[in-house]
Amino acid sequence: MRLIILGAPGSGKGTQAMFIKKKFHIPQISTGEILRDVIRSNNKNNFKNKIYNDIKKGNLISDNIIIDLVINRLKCSDCINGYLLDGFPRTLSQAHAMKEAGIIIDNILEIYVSDSEIIERIIGRRIHASSGRIYHNKFNPPKIHGRDNITGELLVQRDDDTIEVIKNRLSIYHKQKKILLDYYKNLETFKIFGFPRYHRINGSFSIDQVRNNIFSILIKN
Ligand code: AMP
Repeated sequence: MRLIILGAPGSGKGTQAMFIKKKFHIPQISTGEILRDVIRSNNKNNFKNKIYNDIKKGNLISDNIIIDLVINRLKCSDCINGYLLDGFPRTLSQAHAMKEAGIIIDNILEIYVSDSEIIERIIGRRIHASSGRIYHNKFNPPKIHGRDNITGELLVQRDDDTIEVIKNRLSIYHKQKKILLDYYKNLETFKIFGFPRYHRINGSFSIDQVRNNIFSILIKN
């Protein structure tokens, strides 16, 4: 089960990724999380400030930094039965580098939600920093306002969940998604080894409905 999950920020991609990794026992390799871990860690990393500033502005991190981080992560033993790539690849160079490194993808899942709905969702999104659990003030509220359901700790809003940043991220996302899907479509057209199956899922339904639709597709494929 080697998957790429695609979805604009706020499409529900993170929530669905959690369901998939539990159901199929595969690790979720989220580049956003890996990068936020680098920023939070006490390790000396030459790129820490650059990563922090780029994420804050909603810009992409340079390919060489991200490719190294992901390829090293995929060498870990928990990836032996598959993986769920979340947020990677996002550029043509990243897709090429992945193919060169022999990293195979069986399925691409795209969760589609319109931009206007995304913006409404983003404003209310809150996360529990240490577990990655995601809530929404309106659509998926925690039992106690502003607190994680399991630990009771305070929920936070991501620095990059603001209107200006989200508009920038949406426009970057649409451009990168097109490049990526064209790349994989090309592999399919020319029957080049390792082309994945592509599935587009309507992300406007309820969380449970989207999850069931994804599961039924993945079980068949
Ligand atoms: P995400 O949590 O996936 O929305 O990622 C948050 C931010 O991390 C993005 O807006 C980018 O600045 C950076 N980022 C995550 N994945 C990548 C990637 N594959 N390539 C470049 N930048 C990335």
